[in-house]
Amino acid sequence: MKVFKFGGASVKNASTIQNVAAIIKEYADEPLLVVVSAMGKTTNALEQVVALAHQKKDFQHTLEEIKLYHLQVIENLDLTDPSFLKTIVAQFQEIEKNASATGDYDFIYDQVVSTGEILSSLLLGKYLKSKGFAAEWLDARNYIRTDETYREGKVNWEKTREAVQPLKEILKQKIVVTQGFIGGTENKTTTTLGREGSDYTAAIFASCLQAKSVTIWKDVPGVMSADPKRLPNAIVFDELPYQEAAEMTYYGASVIHPKTIKPLANENIPLLVKNFDNPALPGTIIHACKVEKLPPLIVFKDNQCLISCKVTDYSFVNEHQMSTIFETLSQHDVRINVMQNSAITFSFCVDFRDQKILKLIESLSKSFEVYYNTGLTLITVKNYDAATFAEYISKPGVMLEQSSRTTLQVLVRNS
Ligand code: ASP
Ligand code: MG
Repeated sequence: MKVFKFGGASVKNASTIQNVAAIIKEYADEPLLVVVSAMGKTTNALEQVVALAHQKKDFQHTLEEIKLYHLQVIENLDLTDPSFLKTIVAQFQEIEKNASATGDYDFIYDQVVSTGEILSSLLLGKYLKSKGFAAEWLDARNYIRTDETYREGKVNWEKTREAVQPLKEILKQKIVVTQGFIGGTENKTTTTLGREGSDYTAAIFASCLQAKSVTIWKDVPGVMSADPKRLPNAIVFDELPYQEAAEMTYYGASVIHPKTIKPLANENIPLLVKNFDNPALPGTIIHACKVEKLPPLIVFKDNQCLISCKVTDYSFVNEHQMSTIFETLSQHDVRINVMQNSAITFSFCVDFRDQKILKLIESLSKSFEVYYNTGLTLITVKNYDAATFAEYISKPGVMLEQSSRTTLQVLVRNS
């Protein structure tokens, strides 16, 4: 069997959903499990609903827009039978109830935001059936079993693997349509796996079912050497080793969710990244392979913050102080993207998520004199050659730079 994952852009309106059905018809040459994200920008909109509700502001208006958007697509696809509409409307009532609840923010977030995937999968499942496909909608929360870390659910692999096994029988008869990004806890509450987590869901199902491959259908022709919106001469990789793809995601390449590669590599399951607008293009295959000379890969990570901790007592930065810094980072659950030390300062760069980082800075200020800059971009050039090295080392506005034998990183002020 195979796993297909369709992201938000591939189900954003009636014609893209029709395209998904065409791809399934043409390219599913064996049993298929389909993982789908929320339609278009629904996840962002639902996040807004949660934020407004939390601030006791009017969220009805935003919610109504999301509802109208879904109902419009349903109408355009001719899926307006009363019982289906009732199912959809009930989901919106559920959102309203959950958003209005008081309690832990992250918990409420997951109960509300997960509905985006429930809705899109209901729609796709219904559409496929209406076109004569033998499709079955399944609730991923009964299969992807997680702990109660809301918004970052940690998968319980043992329970998940066990829960998923009965799908093998169903897949012999039917195309399974289910949700990306969401999971369920022991207590039957909903969790999400972190933003853009649907790729990860596809990898989890594939691993548990020993799939032949996973295909992520995207709006780009494959994994590219840079974001083509930023560097129009970016090229598409034909193939990549798992390790290389995993490192790309570490440096911030957003084409695949960072957690996706490991479960697939462990089971030796190839991951294909293909273009849903032009499925005949080969795309990129990520698998166990050796590529002799990979062209340079350039990743831009925006919204970075450079934090410098300076020792104040005329001593030098030592192991004790470093351990205080790392301890504090770990307590605040903040990951370092690049770091450097000098005699009296230790500097590092992190994703700037204001509340979280400001709290971190406050904690560090108890032990150090702390300086920080925001609005920076971290550029990573992996597998650099002489030309790319020369180009990026001389960028204007450099705040910090670092190179190893294969990788150059420069942190620059946005011009
Ligand atoms: N819908 C979720 C998001 O936008 C998950 C995903 O698309 O992978 O983050
Ligand atoms: Mg998405």
